[in-house]
Amino acid sequence: MKLTIHGAARQVTGSMHLLEVGQFKILVDCGLDYEKDRSIQANENFPFDPAEIDLVILTHAHIDHTGNLPTLVRLGYAGQILCTPPTADLTELLLLDSVNLFMRKASKGGKHRKGKFNTAAQPLYLQKHVMDTVERFVTIGFNRPFRVNENVELTFVPIGHLLGAAAAVLKIKDDGVEKTIAFTGDVGRKNYPVLDDPQALPPVDYLVIESTYGGRYHTKDKTVEQTLVEVIEKTCIKEQGRLIIPAFSIGRTQSLVYSLNKIFSTGLLPPVKVFVDSPLASRSTEVFRKYHSLVNSEAQEFYQKRGDEFEFDNLTYVETMKDSRQVSNYYEPCVIISSAGMLDGGRIQDHLFYNIQNYYCTILFIGYCAKGTLGHRLLRGDPIVHIKDRELAVYATIKQTDVLSAHGDHDDLMNTVKQVDKGKLKDIFLVHGETESMNLLAGALEEDGYGVTIPEKGVSYDLN
Ligand SMILES: [Zn+2]
Repeated sequence: MKLTIHGAARQVTGSMHLLEVGQFKILVDCGLDYEKDRSIQANENFPFDPAEIDLVILTHAHIDHTGNLPTLVRLGYAGQILCTPPTADLTELLLLDSVNLFMRKASKGGKHRKGKFNTAAQPLYLQKHVMDTVERFVTIGFNRPFRVNENVELTFVPIGHLLGAAAAVLKIKDDGVEKTIAFTGDVGRKNYPVLDDPQALPPVDYLVIESTYGGRYHTKDKTVEQTLVEVIEKTCIKEQGRLIIPAFSIGRTQSLVYSLNKIFSTGLLPPVKVFVDSPLASRSTEVFRKYHSLVNSEAQEFYQKRGDEFEFDNLTYVETMKDSRQVSNYYEPCVIISSAGMLDGGRIQDHLFYNIQNYYCTILFIGYCAKGTLGHRLLRGDPIVHIKDRELAVYATIKQTDVLSAHGDHDDLMNTVKQVDKGKLKDIFLVHGETESMNLLAGALEEDGYGVTIPEKGVSYDLN
């Protein structure tokens, strides 16, 4: 059998891995590549004919793992898409949101580039392509071996990171010889709010593992709750100000809301008004409720004792734009959770526009901000930023924490590998990381006696 890393090779986004078992072609993930030097439009250029792919498997719903599926379907893919039930629901929400984003960019591009045809602003796909895509979903629960055909069996193993996220473990009969390969997708962390810990992988011959945090370590001196209590106490209680938390709507927001619920319901802080201002966050919270049996035991217990972990008296989910505008000017101390997490669009921009010049406002970043985004400019300390075509001085306090990062760090990645039977493991392929992170992780693994490959994009590797 043959493995070709067509995306997320020596970079983070665009996960897309082709596994060929004889003539049978399996694509693991089909993510959007949004590296800064690449146009979104370039995602149309698949290095293979989409009609020739026999099966697609998804590790989890994030857009860098699923965001190019509708293009694959639009260009001829006609097979099934296998994933866990929450991944199916969350992917549908995220793909529909991408269409809205493309449309907004298209209309903005038309407005600003007078007379020029802006190809980058053309939508990559439309709502109907998303609907054609979700029709192909076939869902499989965790840890249930699923026989794809006489030569291929798939098992989804929980990997933390996001509700429904799984490592795809494939048992393959290649010319009569049994081989196993696991694709981790993104590896989560232990003790993450709402989510279960990543599960150990079974023995495999080959492992394709992400490497985002290779060589980097999360801070471990404070818990999520301690971090939140500290910043809310200072900003909202002592200074009577406003705390704005930019957060991804799917996953990060639910973990944040649950952590706040624990803080307020146990009396660690007096009730401070909390707004979740993202319709996508509200819809994805419904998915978390639907698959409640998959949240971790701590959240299950909380539910038994105190009810819905995503609801509390001082929490409001904001739906309409009219209500959103009122939140920006809410006169009492409050916490505003809104998207997009990197501040490159969405309702968060309004909240920043009205609050960035407020000395009594703190903006707490809980996720990664890519270069070129407003979030990145604020984090590097720009004294003046542009928001909604206005130049604004930054008087708000800017803070950052990694306690809610959904990716495992260097130690977590090493542990994921070490839990796999070393005697059986023939090679480890590193994907989904900057070259520096990959080199650091590869070095550490090689020191421990593992064989490691940092695959080159588009190069096929024979897995004998
Ligand atoms: Zn992810």
